[in-house]
Amino acid sequence: AENESKNFIEEIVGRDLADGKVDRVVTRFPPEPNGYLHLGHAKSICLNFGLAEKFGGKCNLRFDDTNPAREDVEYINAIKRDIEWLGFEWAAEAYGSDYFGFMYECAERLIEKGLAYVDDLTPEEMRAYRGTLTEPGRESPYRGRTPEENMDLFRRMKAGEFEDGTKVLRAKIDMSSPNLNMRDPAIYRIVKAPHHRTGEKWVIYPMYDFAHPLEDACEGVTHSVCTMEFEDHRPLYDWFIENCECKNVPHQYEFARLNLTHTVMSKRYLKKLVDDGVVYGWDDPRMPTLSGVRRRGYTPAAIRDFCERIGVAKAVSEVDVRLLEHCVREDLNAHAPRVMGVLRPLKLTIENYPEGKTELLAAEDLPGGESTHEVPFSKHLFIEQDDFLEVKPNNKYFRLYVGGEVRLKNAYIIKCERVVKDADGSIAEVVCTYDETTKSGGENSGRKVKGTLHWVERDTAVKAQVRLLDYLFTESADGTCVANPDSLTVLDGAVIEPHIRTAEKGSRFQFMRQGYFCIDTKDTADGKLVFNQIVSLKDSFAK
Ligand code: ATP
Ligand code: MG
Ligand code: MG
Repeated sequence: AENESKNFIEEIVGRDLADGKVDRVVTRFPPEPNGYLHLGHAKSICLNFGLAEKFGGKCNLRFDDTNPAREDVEYINAIKRDIEWLGFEWAAEAYGSDYFGFMYECAERLIEKGLAYVDDLTPEEMRAYRGTLTEPGRESPYRGRTPEENMDLFRRMKAGEFEDGTKVLRAKIDMSSPNLNMRDPAIYRIVKAPHHRTGEKWVIYPMYDFAHPLEDACEGVTHSVCTMEFEDHRPLYDWFIENCECKNVPHQYEFARLNLTHTVMSKRYLKKLVDDGVVYGWDDPRMPTLSGVRRRGYTPAAIRDFCERIGVAKAVSEVDVRLLEHCVREDLNAHAPRVMGVLRPLKLTIENYPEGKTELLAAEDLPGGESTHEVPFSKHLFIEQDDFLEVKPNNKYFRLYVGGEVRLKNAYIIKCERVVKDADGSIAEVVCTYDETTKSGGENSGRKVKGTLHWVERDTAVKAQVRLLDYLFTESADGTCVANPDSLTVLDGAVIEPHIRTAEKGSRFQFMRQGYFCIDTKDTADGKLVFNQIVSLKDSFAK
């Protein structure tokens, strides 16, 4: 829609296009393939791909694989699947390692210009020489090496003559800069580890701050969007672009990362949850990973809607996770077919209904919609244990009790006559009568009772496992995150109406009065139907 408000980055891009500063916007999404994407990445994806979509430009997917040790092809494939699932298409699939040759040339150019030197200080010494925010740094004794000497040493670093950590190439900028990032940052280090794409070709690898602007320049990126932590790296970004004499001049812009209540979003931490067995995997439906929320049943449309609503700003804040749930609920409310499922079944027998008779009743797929499906009804049903009490507790209780009446959704009004108890005194069965004249949609359907219950017919019921999900973390009194021991409740005895039988894995439904549920794609098999709770029905998000 045209009246959508623009975020500040869209305003910058719009202005740059209008002023002719750029002909076409080019962005990139640059994940490091060292884990699965999470909801925070979705914000960056929606922003970067969204800019390209809105302004008719392009967005590349670039794997930031300049660190040889930690990366894995499993992650690369998972990242691609997640972006496609969100509904975005990248213009090019690129890898930081594609540009190692160019980066190396840039480093030699800096050496020739006297703007980079090989340093022999140990990492500890280098840290000590760097100074602090209040204390200027000191120059390394190796800072005065001539360009010839530096070129010789750098080429020997590349040739593998020196051990890991014994030498680095540093940019020669300003050891007394108030910005610590400008105090002769390292640009190449020795790492004798094979790389998943370049193999053993390189034993020196560029540092992120050096690699990133050069990658952007190589791809003709115009607007390089990153999170706020990189704000004071921007002068360095510009320094590399200028001094390496890049033809394309990209600019960096920063926005606040997404933080969500009840949610930890750091790949490192999420990996620990997986490695420690706290969750069943990266795609555990409780995880804030895109593969987790996909398996749980969140829709791409809801996530994109959420990212649109939270907007893009510089101020760091924590977004209420209930806003995300609200977006999911809105989408599902409009699209998820309604079915009846009983999570904790209680037997109900209608004693005046003929044994052996089955009626097929009509149930709307969506409220007020045209399409319906058939629900079988008979003498033997299940209702929810929670929907029955032997004795009415108060006048606000509209569920079933002995002597009380309720409507069974899409069916008849019934009255509870008595209960049958087990030896231990627990209720085994409720015995009811029905009023034949009150069939939903029939002549006498107008008779009113206060409560309407969902139910499932006994002989056609489909058994299912239903997993109720809660937050992995709750906030403790002091505001810190603590693991929630009740994040997963497994109900093994749920029953669902037979309409569900033909549904495919990954299908989403509203179980009337219970919430939204999705057929688990991984654990569902022949004879085993598993549902994950997507989100509850009740919206607790205050707008
Ligand atoms: P993590 O700390 O979870 O590992 P990261 O920033 O190291 O995240 P990258 O793979 O480098 O992960 O991220 C790719 C892009 O996604 C980067 O541009 C990064 O800024 C962005 N991003 C990561 N986390 C968030 C977040 N919470 N909100 C918004 N953008 C994010
Ligand atoms: Mg990163
Ligand atoms: Mg990280």
